[in-house]
Amino acid sequence: MNIHEYQAKQIFAKYGVATPRGIIANTPEQAARNAEELGGDVWVVKAQIHAGGRGLGGGVKLARSKDEVKQLANEILGMNLVTHQTGPEGKLVQKVYIEEGADIVDELYLGIVLDRAKEMPVIMASTEGGMEIEKVAEESPDKIIKIAVDPAIGFQGFHGRELVFGLGITDKKEQSKFIKLASALYTLYLENDAEMIEINPLIKTASGDFLALDGKMSFDDSALGRHQDIEDMRDISEEDADEREASQYGLSYVSLDGEIGCMVNGAGLAMGTMDTINYMGGTPANFLDVGGSANAQTVAKGFEIILKNPRVKAIFVNIFGGIVRCDRIANGILEATKLTDVNVPVIVRLDGTNAGEAAEILKAANIPNIIVADDLGDGAAKAVAAAKQA
Ligand code: ADP
Ligand code: MG
Repeated sequence: MNIHEYQAKQIFAKYGVATPRGIIANTPEQAARNAEELGGDVWVVKAQIHAGGRGLGGGVKLARSKDEVKQLANEILGMNLVTHQTGPEGKLVQKVYIEEGADIVDELYLGIVLDRAKEMPVIMASTEGGMEIEKVAEESPDKIIKIAVDPAIGFQGFHGRELVFGLGITDKKEQSKFIKLASALYTLYLENDAEMIEINPLIKTASGDFLALDGKMSFDDSALGRHQDIEDMRDISEEDADEREASQYGLSYVSLDGEIGCMVNGAGLAMGTMDTINYMGGTPANFLDVGGSANAQTVAKGFEIILKNPRVKAIFVNIFGGIVRCDRIANGILEATKLTDVNVPVIVRLDGTNAGEAAEILKAANIPNIIVADDLGDGAAKAVAAAKQA
């Protein structure tokens, strides 16, 4: 689950990670009142969407008067903000964060992500903070320091020293401030079951203090049960409506940008199915795990959700009958085609218990757009061919 910048900054504050002061607004009038309340003479109006790159997309603007704050908030609220992370369709801005303008001497980068291969959180830091860290990662990866911190040991002094020496921070006071901040961020990461924290930029001010100017965080969905305060930060309007609907029916659905809809039982088989489609020269339109209880209702719902995506040209149903028997799934598929209008070819590969009976049932039904496949390779090849023909 992702949260907004202003919410990440609320969490930062609890752990002593300093940020500029700011107040959230839904209207231009509120934005102007926030500027008044914050005081000072420079403010930043920041679009709150679940995506980075807002600055380059025109969603972060500097204002030098309260009228300008109001005017910029008016422009940014309701705008469809397109950034390199939103995709071409962009995201609607519903809230703006009004923040005091910070006095930037230096822009650094500091983040923590889970490295699954190392099985540890990795702290990443760079002197090349600012808006184009992705470019730095691609063109000069040596400018990003990466330090894996074993949770069994925790953040230690040597981790901190590696960071400050790597960043070339030589002033003793600044070194200790930075180490304290990185250590706090690590604690925050672990205590909240975060998956990713990114501060870009982390700035150094004229007084040698470090401030988180931006904040991005995502959390492990499976751990939200023990973090009601974070669950409360959920913004449904930022989430994919189809993915949400699917989860209400116990389906794990992730929308992708290919052409072949996939309906599979089990996450591992779903991954393998997507790989096989790719191998056969096609592209999957989604990941969909119908789970252990593939029945007519879940299959029908699966078809419905897959077909909401206009790019889908064929559907590949790849289900292994273990506890659920294939004949029941075959009947479920036939039943589902009556419940939902399926207007693309459906390639069905059923294997496992009673696979033979299942194939007979499907063939006997003689529905023109249901094509029975013999095995995974055959099914993927038929799905790719059907999508290419469409
Ligand atoms: P994004 O990463 O989505 O583009 P940021 O919050 O990083 O959004 O803002 C983009 C840029 O705007 C920052 O790199 C910084 O230069 C500037 N900026 C953001 N917040 C402030 C602030 N409070 N004071 C001064 N400049 C800011
Ligand atoms: Mg940023």
